[in-house]
Amino acid sequence: MLSQREYEDLLWKINNIPSTITGKKRQHLRTTFKKKLHEHELATKYPPFEPLKFEQVFINFRTTDSTLIHLIDQIKSTTVFTLDTESIIIPYQPNAPALIQVQIILSESFSYVVLIEMCHLPRAYEHTFTLVKQFFQTLFNADNNIFIWGDISELHNFCSYNLFTYDQLDLCNPINLQDAFKTHWNTQHPHQPTTSASTNYSECICEECLGFQKKKTWSLQNAVAFELSRWLDKRQTTSNFDIGLDPTLYHFNSAEIAHRQSLIRYAVYDCLSMQQIMLKL
Ligand SMILES: [Zn+2]
Repeated sequence: MLSQREYEDLLWKINNIPSTITGKKRQHLRTTFKKKLHEHELATKYPPFEPLKFEQVFINFRTTDSTLIHLIDQIKSTTVFTLDTESIIIPYQPNAPALIQVQIILSESFSYVVLIEMCHLPRAYEHTFTLVKQFFQTLFNADNNIFIWGDISELHNFCSYNLFTYDQLDLCNPINLQDAFKTHWNTQHPHQPTTSASTNYSECICEECLGFQKKKTWSLQNAVAFELSRWLDKRQTTSNFDIGLDPTLYHFNSAEIAHRQSLIRYAVYDCLSMQQIMLKL
């Protein structure tokens, strides 16, 4: 959250972008400031998001056979999952795929959130690599309901790691939670015209009165704010998710571990907040 001074400073900056900055640069700067402001407003208005009970597990070259076999068994024991991915931004190049988060929902009170670290996988000839492939093969089964905030196509870039193929993605049953949530919101909150008896202040929370465009999709952060009345911290949105998040992966100092913990929290909360939104539909 920003201090009062930082907040006022930000407001001033939004209204006083130097006239020498024009075109796309100006637009980009404005968007960046507005995002910061939106983040601050949500952080001020709502308490932070709190997940349901879960356990996080990393998949990387340190993961053992027995952990992978256990996870594959857990996948077989349920049909409900959430999935998200993180990529890293490289200037003037396509985003580089870095992380896949898979939540294995075993019950309302317990789930695993598995973080697959694409830049730290075992070598292709190792047995654990075969088991990671098996993990995805078991997951991408037509009988499984895989909830994604958006489209399954965000996984296409990840095919280059040879853990799964385009064909496997075609066979699975993804559910676009972002679209489902929009439909849910519009059904639950149609426009309420203000009556003459009421004040001028409209309490209507239909998409239009909230200032959201009809054609636009909902951000997960806004869905969490309006549906769950919680603030989902999105400040790490363009971070370096490829650095190796598992604290046992390499030797890290305490600052490095703290940085990784904030990235891990960001990554697992995307799945965990989707789970809570699913419960509202
Ligand atoms: Zn309205």
